[in-house]
Amino acid sequence: MEPAGIVADLRKLQFECFPKEFAMTVRLNVAVCHFGSLLLFSALAAGGVHAADSGVQRMYVLNCGESRTNDVSMWSPGIDVGKSRDFSDNCYLIRHGKDLMLWDTGMSDAIANKPEGVTAAGGLLTLWVKRTLASQLRELGVAPTDITHIALSHFHSDHCGNANLFTAARLYIQAAEYEAAFGPEPDKFGFAPANYDKLRANPVLKLNGDHDVFGDGSVVILSTPGHTPGHQSLLVRLPKRGAVVLSGDMVHFQENWTNRRVPARNFDREQSKRTMERIATFLAENNAQLWINHDKAQSDAIPHVPDYVE
Ligand SMILES: [Zn+2]
Repeated sequence: MEPAGIVADLRKLQFECFPKEFAMTVRLNVAVCHFGSLLLFSALAAGGVHAADSGVQRMYVLNCGESRTNDVSMWSPGIDVGKSRDFSDNCYLIRHGKDLMLWDTGMSDAIANKPEGVTAAGGLLTLWVKRTLASQLRELGVAPTDITHIALSHFHSDHCGNANLFTAARLYIQAAEYEAAFGPEPDKFGFAPANYDKLRANPVLKLNGDHDVFGDGSVVILSTPGHTPGHQSLLVRLPKRGAVVLSGDMVHFQENWTNRRVPARNFDREQSKRTMERIATFLAENNAQLWINHDKAQSDAIPHVPDYVE
């Protein structure tokens, strides 16, 4: 059995032995319940208290494209003019009980048909998809229709490229992003509706701020406007690693985060700065790590499919 499954089963056992509140405070005594609880004690000792507190079992990080720019200063105005930089691009699949939530859908799988890559943004970027999202889900035994919840950080094409695959999922989107993406002028925001137009028929929850997806605090959408009108990030409380915030494009790489730089093409510069300050405070208060989606060095250090993080 997989480790997370063991912990889940042992949690069940724990609650059968003791009321939850009692078990939380006298965990050291749990071992007297019976043999199974000895295992429980070991599992909790190894995983920390988060193992018993989070409704998230695990999170898969999927490679959802790669890109290279020939001028990174578009993201860091005035800095490193004319220098190239490689970007990662991830999607994240979260297992919460019987539910599967997908965060971002990456670049279009169709790009995989061009192994030499395709150019975008007027030649500023070259894009590659070396492993399609569909094939990685297949590898995990997940059909697109198994995804019950979907949210995108925003509707730029490197995040919504495969959105049309997930028509059965409930969509979580900020009202401002919905207005921009499905309103009369999507191109004004750099959005291409062909990437995501099928989502119009999905069950949808329009948000005006933060939202606790499962009602237990383990997965929380954070409103982080600025890059786009209704940009959002995602707090995930992993059972072992603890709290992580998935950045979306709230920031693109570590140096920009350290220096609070705003890319030239962001929708609202001042709002972007306020959002970064808010998230910096949030990270400190929640003892959370920031996982920066497009930071290739950071991304390379995180296990990807078929591995997972807990
Ligand atoms: Zn992006």
